[in-house]
Amino acid sequence: MSIEARLESNKPLKELSTFGIGGPARLFITINTIDEMVLLRKYINREKLPYWIVGKGSNSLFDDRGFDGLVILNKIDFIEMNEGNLHVGAGYSFSLLGAQTARKGWGGLEFASGIPGSVGGAIYMNAGAGGAETCDVLTSVGWVDPEGAFIETPRKELTFSYRTSSFQTKEGMIVSGRFQLEKMEGARKKQLEIIAYRTGTQPYGDKSVGCIFRNSKEKGAGALIEACGLKGKRVGGAEVSLTHANFIVNRGDATATDVLELARLVQKEVKQKTGHNLEMEMRRVPHVSR
Ligand SMILES: Cc1cc2nc3c(=O)[nH]c(=O)nc-3n(C[C@H](O)[C@H](O)[C@H](O)COP(=O)(O)OP(=O)(O)OC[C@H]3O[C@@H](n4cnc5c(N)ncnc54)[C@H](O)[C@@H]3O)c2cc1C
Repeated sequence: MSIEARLESNKPLKELSTFGIGGPARLFITINTIDEMVLLRKYINREKLPYWIVGKGSNSLFDDRGFDGLVILNKIDFIEMNEGNLHVGAGYSFSLLGAQTARKGWGGLEFASGIPGSVGGAIYMNAGAGGAETCDVLTSVGWVDPEGAFIETPRKELTFSYRTSSFQTKEGMIVSGRFQLEKMEGARKKQLEIIAYRTGTQPYGDKSVGCIFRNSKEKGAGALIEACGLKGKRVGGAEVSLTHANFIVNRGDATATDVLELARLVQKEVKQKTGHNLEMEMRRVPHVSR
């Protein structure tokens, strides 16, 4: 079927985000292979369509008005594992990858277990936890450039830092990643401890996008917010989690406007009371883009 014939309209974006928030996408498509992504990129160029890529939507706040363009759900989810060498589709579950590799005794991605994103989202965000980051074990990234060419770029030609990657400043659709892991005794035990820690300290049963603010070198954002007495603070259906102060949770009927108003209120109070500037980690998807 042609790309055009596969386009859906008015897809509710709240279904694509772990926040459960967002109006409709004017156009929507699910992409399952690298070849399809290449074709799609060329179609986008011909039609001059604004677009936005979603993995698992676990770090994305969609606009209440939705997205006036094409939303692409990346479901390229192949996996090839040869000892510690991994070649994985960008739509593959990052959490599952962490658990599967640790179960087989390979170390380096245990931290991924419990991060509810896709491999592509983890590369884009340089997701991490407990001092480990995606870029530590990444060896190359497969991506589709703005002209619609598939390129594989070695890790050393890309830049990564705390929750930041080159892909945040250059236009590209991540379609695959290669990782190199090392044999590690106790990888499974470490991964299970990470999951236990997460479920004990973070609001896993609630709708959220994880940490709203970036941690600074001096102090964790959660500790600063908690110290200001903001746990439980609400705007509409959005609430600062009682379990972990750096999470905003959707109590059922929150809107993007509620979340942003609450986030701004938290930033203001933390600045006034502690002098710290909290910087947003969550990605805000505009109503209109590119
Ligand atoms: C309960 C919970 C716990 C979390 N814990 C952690 C944690 O410990 N550490 C951490 O780092 N994060 C954490 N997160 C946040 C989130 O899971 C990560 O940022 C994750 O990497 C996002 O992946 P995603 O596929 O969901 O990205 P999405 O939300 O779908 O997208 C995020 C950004 O990446 C871009 N993007 C996604 N896929 C592609 C692609 N294929 N090509 C180009 N751009 C792309 C999107 O356009 C968007 O700008 C947590 C979230 C939740 C809900």
